[in-house]
Amino acid sequence: MKYNLKIGWLYPQLMNIYGDRGNIIVLEKRCEWREIKTEVLMLDIGFSEAKLWECDIFVMGGAQDKQQETVAKDLFLKKNILKKLIDQGTPGLYICGAYQFLGKYYEEANGEKIPGLGIFDMFTKNPGENYPRLIGNLAFECSALNYRLLGFENHGGRTYLGNIKSFGKIVKGHGNNGEDKTEGAHYKNSFGTYLHGPILPKNPLFADYLIEKSLEIKYKEKISLKKLDDTLEEKARMIIAKRLSVAI
Ligand code: GLN
Repeated sequence: MKYNLKIGWLYPQLMNIYGDRGNIIVLEKRCEWREIKTEVLMLDIGFSEAKLWECDIFVMGGAQDKQQETVAKDLFLKKNILKKLIDQGTPGLYICGAYQFLGKYYEEANGEKIPGLGIFDMFTKNPGENYPRLIGNLAFECSALNYRLLGFENHGGRTYLGNIKSFGKIVKGHGNNGEDKTEGAHYKNSFGTYLHGPILPKNPLFADYLIEKSLEIKYKEKISLKKLDDTLEEKARMIIAKRLSVAI
């Protein structure tokens, strides 16, 4: 059976900082190495919401507040369909500013509120210019995947979860808000996280999880991907783990 995966890349022009485009490249390569065809739909400002129905997985990167203000207007026009797809389990990876959009709102340092999609029960607030950004290497434990994820974070907003699971528990670093030891959020098959870097090259198990889950939902069958040689990826993980003085 020849599988293919349609990756919906949300706002690649504006929501794409700190190497987040690398997440798309990882999904493409880890599929190609298994002869799974991929097609990337570039969903930039003004894209037709009908395109959302074609996607097997969504990926959206982070951004500075300014770009988030611009994207918010367009994203809101697609709110109902995106909410429906996320609620029905379309997998997705939402990094930092993208993650913030899934909550009720993101309150910027100047007190302006960027409305969120309200899909995740959470909100984000930047405490103001006099507060430090949450920056640095980050390691957290995801019990659902039985896996420790590594990367780096750089955000001013602090995210507070309501009735939603965190993506994981902090081992080292700030995470959602630097207070409650949570990182990210996990709802159905959508994952929000502050891990930039990009996250997927240094966390191949999670990359494969997203590919398997997307294919299983699309083809309605159990998928077990061929194992790849992840020597390089494991080396990258070791380097970050060493920098953080954490075990992996
Ligand atoms: N602008 C948001 C913040 O500072 C998100 C930053 C990001 O995507 N890296 O919290």
